[in-house]
Amino acid sequence: MDIDSRQSAYRGRFAPSPTGPLHAGSLVAALGSWLDARVHRGAWLVRIEDVDGPRCVAGAAAEILRQLAACGLVPDEVPWVQSQRGDAYATALTRLAEAGAAFPCACTRSEIDAAWAARGVVHRPGAERVYPGTCRDGLGGRPARAWRLRAEGVVDWCDRRLGPQRQDVAAAVGDFVLARADGLWAYQLAVVVDDAAQGVTDVVRGADLADNTPRQILLQRALGLPTPRHLHLPLVLGDDGQKLSKGNGARAIDTDQPLRELQAAGRVLGLPDLAAANPAQWLAAAWPAWAGIIAGFNPRPMP
Ligand code: GLU
Repeated sequence: MDIDSRQSAYRGRFAPSPTGPLHAGSLVAALGSWLDARVHRGAWLVRIEDVDGPRCVAGAAAEILRQLAACGLVPDEVPWVQSQRGDAYATALTRLAEAGAAFPCACTRSEIDAAWAARGVVHRPGAERVYPGTCRDGLGGRPARAWRLRAEGVVDWCDRRLGPQRQDVAAAVGDFVLARADGLWAYQLAVVVDDAAQGVTDVVRGADLADNTPRQILLQRALGLPTPRHLHLPLVLGDDGQKLSKGNGARAIDTDQPLRELQAAGRVLGLPDLAAANPAQWLAAAWPAWAGIIAGFNPRPMP
């Protein structure tokens, strides 16, 4: 497809965290978001999500862009880099605080555990903790460490592949962190601010992120931002049956074999084997096939 025929308002994105090179799992998210943007005659953006600096690996962002390009996946606009977006996150947090939607929190992890223990609840080591609400009504003279969103309400949303979803965010997660005690911005805030600032209409990403969506919708509502459509893609599983990650056998994709890597990612997305001599030919055959697959997800047309 040539650039002139990309004329819809659709804007999609692939938002890798540069914690290592692209692997088979992240290529599925990249390819799925690219295919969906092409089918909808939209723009495909790449955003480097390096807010969690200590987890990022030097050179990984450039390597990811190189790997994507080797597979024929080239963003339509210059990639945004979240480590350069701190001012926008600070502005959003100020707005939330002024509206009373965010509050400072002084609790350490052990204080959160102690608050639960006082109510007879003991967490397994490493298990997620619902915030017990300690600092909702003030810090009680303790110094603020983090900022949290006041999480209220049940969120109903519809995933294009998974169908209707519902989460009681207060019960499932509690007041969640926007600015971390270590001084870093939380993923939830950064992703919501940037999706809106980039005019993203469609979030297409791995199904492991689906349970973040209700938190992001609450934040969008609190900030008066539009909620994009969502499509959560099938995951590649590692040797242990868990989502593929560096810890369970993920290796960097082989950019000497881009067709083989695209075929493998395409199979995860439900695409048939497609005859092609190079990535460009494969991608040209893949996006019409993707149109057929998404037509089966949801009989209702996209609004
Ligand atoms: N940066 C996130 C990750 O690599 C993805 C964020 C998103 O797509 O919303 O897991």
